Amino acid sequence: MAYDCAVIGGGPAGFTAVIYARRAGLGVLLIEKLYPGGQLANVEKCENYPGFAEITGFDLIQNFTGHADKYVYDKADGETLSVKQNGVVFTVITENGAYEAKTVIISTGAGPMKLGALGEDKFSGRGVSYCASCDGALYKNKTAAVIGGGNTAAQDALYLARLCEKVYIIHRRDKLRAERNLQNRLNIPNVEIIYDTVLDEINGESSVNGIKLKNVKSGEKTELAVAGVFMAVGIVPNTGFIKDFIKTDEKGFILTDESMRTDVPGIFAAGDARAKPLRQIVTAAADGAVAAYSAQIYLNETS
Ligand code: NAP
Repeated sequence: MAYDCAVIGGGPAGFTAVIYARRAGLGVLLIEKLYPGGQLANVEKCENYPGFAEITGFDLIQNFTGHADKYVYDKADGETLSVKQNGVVFTVITENGAYEAKTVIISTGAGPMKLGALGEDKFSGRGVSYCASCDGALYKNKTAAVIGGGNTAAQDALYLARLCEKVYIIHRRDKLRAERNLQNRLNIPNVEIIYDTVLDEINGESSVNGIKLKNVKSGEKTELAVAGVFMAVGIVPNTGFIKDFIKTDEKGFILTDESMRTDVPGIFAAGDARAKPLRQIVTAAADGAVAAYSAQIYLNETS
């Protein structure tokens, strides 16, 4: 028997979709790749989810899962490989099985983007990291560089500054993109922001011991001795499994209307995997609610 709704991805968007879909009386399956939480698992401290002035990513995940678990729904583990359509029913194929559903909500989120710098792959896991809260402790009392100028870069630098002797932020422009509140907090003695500068190369032997930089205005090349390089240059959507089936933008973010409908009737998208102007936990959760509501309307109209 087909589920009313299969939700793919258990981050803030997915859990909100589960809660709203169940409260609307839909039979729901949540498909999660590995662990619940998505990118939230890497958030040390969240200060902009309304109702929680300060909460760890871990605690917020527990709250989301605990809330969803108040309702009865099925769960399946495993990476989703593809979605196929057979008439009015979709088949979601995962590495562990295939599941049928009348609607699908894609809430698979996004992951960190690679910069493509020389030495990045070679030293990945040996000085190059994409998660400060996961790997920061390895750089206690050492010097680290964070590449990027957005919210992730600012938060990573703040996290590392509490552990490391010195933290450089290397940013390609003369202004950070991070929100003002985070920028103000970077004004601490062991954080130095190097503007108008790009990372040319990551060097080392068994692990990273330095980086080569280039000033984009003057062309001047410099070197910095660092033990860790934290990449924070943006995100890529986890949509590879669906991008030939539904419309995405050129970066792979799923295109939807404001009701979270994709170009395939019955398939909805929510959260960071969607093309949208503001990616936050609160906007992911809001997308999840709208997607579940739209799935319910679609089911009413088609059955
Ligand atoms: P982001 O906002 O897209 O910032 C990426 C940064 O990397 C930008 O400063 C960008 O420079 C730089 N960059 C991109 N490509 C580069 C390249 N090839 N070489 C050098 N620098 C490059 O990404 P993010 O910080 O990972 O955040 C992703 C999303 O999650 C955003 O929507 C963000 O607001 C959200 N987020 C929110 C929070 C929070 O609310 N607390 C925390 C983390 C993330 P330019 O500025 O020059 O483009």
